[in-house]
Amino acid sequence: DVIRDDEIQEARLKLPILAEEQYIIEVINENEIIIIAGETGSGKTTQVPQFLYEAGYALKKQICITEPRRVAAISMSQRVAEEMNLSTQIVSYLIRFEGNVTEETKIKFVTDGVLLKEIHSDFLLTKYSVIILDEAHERTVYTDILIGLLSRIVPLRKKKGDPLKLIIMSATLRVSDFTENQRLFKVAPPVINVESRQFPVTTHFNKRTVENYLKEAYSKVIKIHSKLPEGGILVFLTGQHEVNLLVKKLRITFPLNMKDKLIAEKERIEPNADYNNYPNDFDKNSKGTNKKRNNNQTHINLDDYSIPNDNESNSGEEDELFSDEEDLIGNSSVYHNAQPLWVLPLYSLLPSQKQQQVFKPPPIGYRLCIISTNIAETSLTIPNIKYVVDSGRAKIKLYDKVTGLTSYVVRWTSKASANQRAGRAGRTCPGHCYRLYSSAVFNNEFEDFATPEIQKRPVDDLYLQMKCMNIDKVTNFPFPTAPDLLQLKAAESRLEILGALRNNEVTSLGQSISKFPVLPRFGKMLALSNQHDLFSHTICLVAALSVQEVFLETPWSGSSEEKKQLRQKWASLRREWAGTGNSLLLGDNGVLLRAIGAAEYANSQGKLKEFCQINGLRFNAVTDIRKLRLQLTLEINKNIPALDIIVDPKMEPFNDIQAKLLRQILLAGLGDQIAKKVSLEEANQFKEKAKYKYAYKANSMEDFVFLHQNSVLKKTLPEFVIFQEIYETDKIYMRGVSAIDPE
Ligand code: ADP
Ligand code: MG
Repeated sequence: DVIRDDEIQEARLKLPILAEEQYIIEVINENEIIIIAGETGSGKTTQVPQFLYEAGYALKKQICITEPRRVAAISMSQRVAEEMNLSTQIVSYLIRFEGNVTEETKIKFVTDGVLLKEIHSDFLLTKYSVIILDEAHERTVYTDILIGLLSRIVPLRKKKGDPLKLIIMSATLRVSDFTENQRLFKVAPPVINVESRQFPVTTHFNKRTVENYLKEAYSKVIKIHSKLPEGGILVFLTGQHEVNLLVKKLRITFPLNMKDKLIAEKERIEPNADYNNYPNDFDKNSKGTNKKRNNNQTHINLDDYSIPNDNESNSGEEDELFSDEEDLIGNSSVYHNAQPLWVLPLYSLLPSQKQQQVFKPPPIGYRLCIISTNIAETSLTIPNIKYVVDSGRAKIKLYDKVTGLTSYVVRWTSKASANQRAGRAGRTCPGHCYRLYSSAVFNNEFEDFATPEIQKRPVDDLYLQMKCMNIDKVTNFPFPTAPDLLQLKAAESRLEILGALRNNEVTSLGQSISKFPVLPRFGKMLALSNQHDLFSHTICLVAALSVQEVFLETPWSGSSEEKKQLRQKWASLRREWAGTGNSLLLGDNGVLLRAIGAAEYANSQGKLKEFCQINGLRFNAVTDIRKLRLQLTLEINKNIPALDIIVDPKMEPFNDIQAKLLRQILLAGLGDQIAKKVSLEEANQFKEKAKYKYAYKANSMEDFVFLHQNSVLKKTLPEFVIFQEIYETDKIYMRGVSAIDPE
């Protein structure tokens, strides 16, 4: 029996979904597959797992809930555990790098990618009595594939007399993709529409659409805060950098008053649990690390109020959007006597402890103001928001279908998303949504719905995984929305080149590749490193390449002179890490390896955090790499027990011969990503002024590509290079570059 705290129970009873508990359970009992659609905040994620638990679905098997976002998996598992008064050993989570599941786990929140991997080893998912696919409207690739697979698994389980329930949960968006697709479900599954208490939201469009939405958002918040009645403000921007910038501006504009500051200093809680949580083995010290500090509202913890490391800028050059950053500060007045504003950031890479802050009431007398990316659109519901300020934009990862070129661009969101964002203002009382764009732009330029991810990204890893699951014709798979045929063909041919497929059959190399939890090209590198006794270095390299932005480009605090000095210091350190001879030819990848080696050493001395700060490494990236190294090692040992590899924490530096071998291994994995230096003549044939000093041409790409100023190969400009990734900011740059010898 579940015994809940009174306070929790009271909050639950306010959710309309609770009135429908019995009906929902009846429909689930009588049907194998059902869809639950309901407004964000109506209680789907937190309540449906509890209904199932109390209806006995966790007696013999587990209940599994998938989330597209890691943060949602963590925070929802914690919330449900708290609501049910159960320990996190029973209501647990599992995401790619970590988790707290135990033998006793009954309710398990996972990311969709994790469940897909589980299907590999247990196609019928026999551990589970129910699978809930949450946030299905987000249409992530993994959720889409899971829907396709489960549409086949559910009937198979029924045939075996061991039925599995599938619940697809979605915000009220485009449910018809699931119900009207007869290849997916022959008989349309019943749809339960969860009612929600949604108050009216008045939408205000800007008369004109301004380019600098950041500045516009800033002045909108000032206006709301200084003129309008109480109620929280939620601002939607596109990325972490913008979020932190606006948070900073607003905190300058509406400073904490001195008295609060003093209390805050006194109450200051050291040390940050995240930093003490550096993993040294697979034991997850899950319990307690995220336990909240006390709930006393008058205490202000300045730790909550510090802006975390901003590491999003790739180029090291000033982002165009913020060129008038100074201007913005210059123009801002400081409202000393205004009601104070409690400004908090929210985005996926924010440590989960900090994310939890947004659920708590602000200190007494403060107005809550949350600056968020689209993470607050549907996956997290923030209480007591009355005003929404919507930039109308989102950061979207674009993939070129042929070259695989990725770039992040800021684009208009969809009408559906904009309406979701507006809806956030009407959860507790009538609200207002300020759209920083005109109604004409909304009507004419916004698409109705965002394109499902599967139609936007390369599908190599999925293609290989599906082939390994004996899905013969991937083109015939019951996708909710099928990916582009061109994409599937491109994936197939890349996998053939890699040697993972031959005549569209999985080779034994392909089998081993698919076992590694990394992209197929990295899987191949791992498979090859075996021959040269370079496992630990290759594992480290693959892990490092799988984690974004290991090096910081710019220090995030200090005067501009201090920043400059630190930048120079970092640059010279990176040159030192680059070494000479074959090591230098290994280029950025060699630097990465040495940096991680040095970080490991610092960690063994208990000085990792300082080391990262002084030497310009992103602490979270370094710990993620560590986790991935351990995980990769574990998986390799599981698949190929004879190897019995151990992660060498201090990792011996590589010698010249090993550097050469590592370049060959990189070439095997990245062989289709080669760039050749072009002649100056060719580089500048259409250029009159500001001539290029060099340029590269990458396989199939039309445009020239360049080495970033932070690349250690920028000095030597080798004839041929391989790169890990291409990205576009002011120019098209290569990332993760090594030199190769011309054949
Ligand atoms: P849905 O999945 O339908 O969007 P949820 O189950 O996530 O809805 O949310 C239901 C309610 O629980 C919301 O009012 C939300 O504010 C609240 N809630 C969710 N997570 C937390 C949390 N960590 N702390 C406090 N309240 C929460
Ligand atoms: Mg939800």
